[in-house]
Amino acid sequence: MFIDNRNTKQWQKIDSDHHLHPFTDHKLLSTSGSKIITSAKGNYVFDSEGNEILDMMAGLWCVNIGYGRNELAEVAKKQMEIVPYYNTFFKTSTTPPIELSRVLAEITPDGIEHFFFGSSGSESNDTVVRLVRRYWDILGKKNKKTFISRTYAYHGSTMVGASLGGMEAMHGQGDLPLPGFTHVMPPYKYKFGKDISEEEFAVLAVKEIENKILELGPDNVAAFIGEPIQAAGGVIVPPENYWSLVQNLCDQYDIILCVDEVVCGFGRTGEWFGSQHFNIKPDIITFAKGITSGYLPLSGVGVGKKVSDVFINQGKDFYHGYTYSGHPVACAVAIENLRIIKEEGMLENVKNHTAPYLQKRIREFQDHPLVGEVRGQGLLAGVELVKNKEKKELFDPPGKVGNICRDHCTNNNLVMRAVRDGMMCSPPLTITKEDIDKCMVKLKKSLDSTLEDIKKIDL
Ligand SMILES: *Cc1c(COP(=O)(O)O)cnc(C)c1O
Repeated sequence: MFIDNRNTKQWQKIDSDHHLHPFTDHKLLSTSGSKIITSAKGNYVFDSEGNEILDMMAGLWCVNIGYGRNELAEVAKKQMEIVPYYNTFFKTSTTPPIELSRVLAEITPDGIEHFFFGSSGSESNDTVVRLVRRYWDILGKKNKKTFISRTYAYHGSTMVGASLGGMEAMHGQGDLPLPGFTHVMPPYKYKFGKDISEEEFAVLAVKEIENKILELGPDNVAAFIGEPIQAAGGVIVPPENYWSLVQNLCDQYDIILCVDEVVCGFGRTGEWFGSQHFNIKPDIITFAKGITSGYLPLSGVGVGKKVSDVFINQGKDFYHGYTYSGHPVACAVAIENLRIIKEEGMLENVKNHTAPYLQKRIREFQDHPLVGEVRGQGLLAGVELVKNKEKKELFDPPGKVGNICRDHCTNNNLVMRAVRDGMMCSPPLTITKEDIDKCMVKLKKSLDSTLEDIKKIDL
């Protein structure tokens, strides 16, 4: 084992000397130093200074069954002893990816029966782009290449992931998006549909997609991709009728409907998948994060009959795959993770108890002077902090106030995520009413301190 008896300062020094972090300003980090997480249990993580931190983000939207479930460690150990690795290329497989595919076929949206594995959400979205383009190619429609996505979408951080994503800041670095990726307005009513009804706004947002299809020409459009609820984009919950309209549109123009279930999958909405919550039948889904509750890296693409039939029946090869596709240890851990979610009734508990409670409690902040909107669905929720509550005016440029509030949350030993000027949460499915109550106390304190702070500064 590596030496694990250094103190906080020593870890921070080595971290700063040698370790590059994702999405980080390293000059800033080297002055503050990293928070060093040294243990984790249930809905809490503990740092090297002994702080007990309520993790309302489930790591990065992924630790669905909570921390410290030794069953997963036992399964990983056992599988490592039996077959730690073998590939799934060349007409070969180990048993865990086969069994995991069977289990997934039972719980994924109707019609999705085949699964292709990777090790991250970004990878699986990359697989989708290659798979769908190859699909149209086999059908003789070589020009159907463009993917339509949405502003504020998050689909990962590789070249394709960031191109599919609709994050302006990411596009600003490294000449993105790549050609063949385009973005339309997201169903973010608070910003884009201030004065109209939910239903009217859904029609408007879907009309934008249709206009984009017509502008590009349906013969050039491969697919539409979206998260059921845009998570990292700021917990953007679409109007109830949005997704069925999108589904109809894709059918009408013969466009593949891809749903990115990386956050919404595995219980976040109280259903196994967000697609089931919105009652749609995607052609393709991608998943990662919650499939192993983050205990090991694993992701996948679920492929519906429309697409899989072409690959399976036409005897066409697809030159694509990863060394770790169907990794036996990760797949074994996923099977155990899904067993726990199912046998412990976590979906029912989220749906009937903890999600309604979280949604009710967080809506109490609707009256807070800083809060423009409270939104959420299932165990995804957030408060949008605004400059002017009556006029629904957002802070411009965005981000400053969100960061101030996030730092107050950190000081109050609460993990929530700042997205622009909203504070978002996505707790483990094991979150209790008691922990939700604790979160609300800490969040109130943080919002109040933020309000005090911003009175003193120029925004
Ligand atoms: C996190 C995320 C991804 C990317 O997954 P990685 O494992 O970080 O590559 C893709 N889509 C959504 C919706 C995500 O939240």
